[in-house]
Amino acid sequence: MGALIDGKAIAAGIREDVAKEVAALKSDHGFTPGLAVVLVGEDPASQIYVRNKGKMTEEAGMNSFTHRLPADATQDQVEALLETLNNDDSVDGILLQLPLPKHLDEASAIERISPNKDVDGLTEASAGRLSLGKKGIRPCTPAGCVILAKSALDDDLSGKNVVVIGRSILVGKPAALLFLEQNCTVTIAHSRTKDLGEVCRQADILVAAVGRPKMVPADWVKPGACVIDVGINRIPAPEKGEGKTRVVGDVDFDACKDVAGQITPVPGSVGPMTIAGLLVNTVTAAKLRRRL
Ligand code: NAP
Repeated sequence: MGALIDGKAIAAGIREDVAKEVAALKSDHGFTPGLAVVLVGEDPASQIYVRNKGKMTEEAGMNSFTHRLPADATQDQVEALLETLNNDDSVDGILLQLPLPKHLDEASAIERISPNKDVDGLTEASAGRLSLGKKGIRPCTPAGCVILAKSALDDDLSGKNVVVIGRSILVGKPAALLFLEQNCTVTIAHSRTKDLGEVCRQADILVAAVGRPKMVPADWVKPGACVIDVGINRIPAPEKGEGKTRVVGDVDFDACKDVAGQITPVPGSVGPMTIAGLLVNTVTAAKLRRRL
């Protein structure tokens, strides 16, 4: 079996480093970074994510502010709240929990977040900085994928063939650019890619970010490849009782673990890295804003 990439442990280490940095900012510069999370509606998964983010933010010694708006909130209400947070000096990072209820315009709301507080790295300014290779805040989940791959491959990804399945603005596209920044040769695959299995078999590092349970079978994985599974899919789990579910990734873990050199389990690898990345980004934003 390939080695498990222990994202949980790596994320815990990152959170410890963040906590130390926060303590130093408090003692040396007299301020505490703050993260504001905006949740619109009552999506159960989003509620859990928001609770976890708040808890981890406080555990790292930062201020956590959670703002809840009802499911029928208007675009104006959401954007007005974001504007208030942009102007609130105690807030260093703003995270708008996605997805928003269907009647709202997500892209327009995201653009209202000040790029200086855009800890999810989703605004046009952040995406532009990433694509131009300029300093800026990088999206948390893809940044976590790069850290996991580096930890699995002795820190050097130079020259590796990377295949990213998925081209979303949230994961696939920024992941491709971040691996490019590491001097990888990157292919982005998507729903129109021809012979996806053959494309995937070329990958030294295979990143699956699709949202289809267990879609990557063992024969898409080059023997010894590093497999990073971003997918979070809930499937029925009758073995746990009637109506119960469990979370699986986009990779058929049980089949692929024997072919891969290193592989991330789901849950418990990319997910924890996303939250750790959010905390890192909040500290980065706090320092940038104060020119530290
Ligand atoms: P998304 O916006 O739905 O994008 C999915 C991508 O997969 C699209 O680019 C789509 O291609 C591609 N795709 C769909 N079917 C395909 C197929 N049969 N073959 C090849 N490509 C296909 O999803 P996302 O936001 O990127 O999220 C992807 C997964 O990651 C989801 O399971 C999500 O829950 C998970 N996720 C996890 C974290 C975490 O912290 N672990 C964070 C964010 C997301 P087209 O563009 O051609 O339609």
